[in-house]
Amino acid sequence: MRKCVETVVCLTLVLVVGGAWLFTPFAVVSGSMSPTLVGPHRQFRCASCGERNVTPAEVPLLGGRKGVCRKCGVLGPILNTLPITPGDRMLVDYTALMYRDPRRWEVVAFQLPHEAEKIAVKRVVGLPGETIELRDGEVYVDGRHEPKPAAVASIRYEDFRRYASPRQWKLAEDEYFMLGDNPPISDDSRLWKAGPGVAAQLIVGKPFIVHFPLRTVHWYGRPVHVPDLANIRYIR
Ligand SMILES: [Zn+2]
Repeated sequence: MRKCVETVVCLTLVLVVGGAWLFTPFAVVSGSMSPTLVGPHRQFRCASCGERNVTPAEVPLLGGRKGVCRKCGVLGPILNTLPITPGDRMLVDYTALMYRDPRRWEVVAFQLPHEAEKIAVKRVVGLPGETIELRDGEVYVDGRHEPKPAAVASIRYEDFRRYASPRQWKLAEDEYFMLGDNPPISDDSRLWKAGPGVAAQLIVGKPFIVHFPLRTVHWYGRPVHVPDLANIRYIR
């Protein structure tokens, strides 16, 4: 019996101490990876089709602006009146990329090249040594069209340097090209002045699950944030 108790205590200690180091929880703070990962946002349910829509909180709200349902296109309620729901919380696996290289289209966490104290989460789009081009919403690698996987099939990757020349990015031998899933508001490889690449040693892990999403409900007319258990999901 005593042995059993000791085993349980030891196991719990290993899980708590080791787990905190191997799988670190992070809060999503921006909408640059929405809808895969949502930061602080406003949400509304479509009156027509029931789809749950989210709009990143940092998107400026103009007077009388309404949300458009992403599924059926019907206008939702006026967004200015909706409360802001805190961002998703996710777990980052620090061991996943210790023994293999990051793969294209995988979501990774890394230290920003120009602000090493900040951790960003983006999708790997370009691998070391490649030349990346964004054209008509699509990705071209070394001049060849690179089909998008199902997880990002509906995303249009725009190059906002429309008039810049040349319009390609060449990666160094140990660099990766990172893009957010919400290109209109994502600060990523397209925009960094110091260059597009993220060096391999800056990549720290792989966010793998949204374990604590929140939703807003109204309780006696006041917005309250509650765990959204139905929305716990793996990050693809
Ligand atoms: Zn709808």
